[in-house]
Amino acid sequence: MDKNNIKKQSVYISEEENTLNWMEIQNSFKKTFGSEIYNSWLQKITLVKEYNDYLILGIPTRFFRDWIVSRYLDKILEQVKGFKLSLNRIEFKIIEEQKNDTELSKIEELNKVTEIKDSILNYNRLNPNLNFENFVEGRSNDIALSYSKKVCEHLSRYNPLYICGGVGLGKTHLLNAIGLELQPDNNVMFISAERFMYHFIKSIKKNDMVNFKDFFRKSSVFIIDDIQFLRGKESLQEEFFHTFNSLMEKGSQIIISADRSPMKLDRVQERIKSRLAGGLVVDIDTPDLELKVKIIKKKIFELQSQFKENIDLSEEVISYIANESKTNIRELIGILNRVIAFSRVHNKILNVSDCKNILKDVFSQTRIITVDKIQNIVSSYFNIPLSEMLSQRRSRPLARPRQIAMYLAKKMTSRSLPEIGRRFANRDHTTVIHAVKTITRLSEQDDEMKKNINQIKNLLLDQ
Ligand code: ADP
Ligand code: MG
Repeated sequence: MDKNNIKKQSVYISEEENTLNWMEIQNSFKKTFGSEIYNSWLQKITLVKEYNDYLILGIPTRFFRDWIVSRYLDKILEQVKGFKLSLNRIEFKIIEEQKNDTELSKIEELNKVTEIKDSILNYNRLNPNLNFENFVEGRSNDIALSYSKKVCEHLSRYNPLYICGGVGLGKTHLLNAIGLELQPDNNVMFISAERFMYHFIKSIKKNDMVNFKDFFRKSSVFIIDDIQFLRGKESLQEEFFHTFNSLMEKGSQIIISADRSPMKLDRVQERIKSRLAGGLVVDIDTPDLELKVKIIKKKIFELQSQFKENIDLSEEVISYIANESKTNIRELIGILNRVIAFSRVHNKILNVSDCKNILKDVFSQTRIITVDKIQNIVSSYFNIPLSEMLSQRRSRPLARPRQIAMYLAKKMTSRSLPEIGRRFANRDHTTVIHAVKTITRLSEQDDEMKKNINQIKNLLLDQ
């Protein structure tokens, strides 16, 4: 509440003494909660009786009361206290209205909008930590960053703004930052394409498309993440196309992200692709060493100020981490966190060879593991000749290792069951299924088996 408000209200209290002006309070609800929540819910509240320290408010139904109490009660009390400080409690009284059918259905209609809005808010809240301040600029993302900022200054100049790039390169971060920047003055909708589909399907099932359309078309800034999700989904594309057009028509700003450029979106209608490409397309590339080092340093700085602790990583270690992480920034941050966690737990300043050890699994997971390698390692782990392990003999000392090897082949390679079967002296895929089941069960029940499996996995990841 700003100073002016307080002044105005205290004057008001002294003039009117104990009598609240309900209309004025309603107006303040409208301002604080926004007209949508106000129209759907708060407008219906009436003042029944005013006491020195509490109010009795009238409300049409029990459902209404529960809804308001669970969502808005604290804020309502805070608001009315602004008009009369001595209030510390609110009671609700259900006042049955004489309603005809149309009125009832109107209320239900409004409830639906709020319902959509609520569930969307729950899943699509903007993350306050993904802002422009902590987005580190480098050669690979400077254009995307600069236009993301420009969009915020000049709404609808670059429309739509389309940001593309591979996973973990900062698309969602930028979209979120734009949303945060514009949220105070605009009706911002931030949603992933996947979530958009979820609501779309839910609305179809509930026979509620009118609300769905209204809801999404109301935003003045529409931010949609990971649009590649539309690929191959015809009816979703249809709906998106209409939403897109009507938003553009009314001059809303649209911001889109995808893992590829508009024209590379296969199985997406041509008319949509050309709309998407019709504004400004910017891309984010993989980070160079310089940007990776900058990001690591920034993250260390953030952690230090957040936890008030010293995080000591030498330049050498930093550049080792930056060099080792090849693919993306999400991975880079993951690796950094792992190193920091380790140095915390062991209370140790790490050198490069410590890091090498810590990160062994992270990097080795990308190494290629083949059925051959698995067979070789398993047979030498159990000290049996490979030819015996693959033979048709069924004695347990051979059968168990064989099953373990099949199990690992299923878990650690992308080979199909029949393919795996063939590699084990032409066995049937049902034999492989049986092996996977048996070892899964045993490794849950039997500590020795669990230990064996883990050791073999480590051997495989270690080479
Ligand atoms: P994408 O949506 O492209 O897959 P994200 O936006 O989710 O990628 O980014 C992955 C992680 O990397 C997030 O934690 C994000 O904050 C971080 N990140 C990406 N780019 C940068 C950057 N330039 N500066 C700081 N953090 C970044
Ligand atoms: Mg993303």
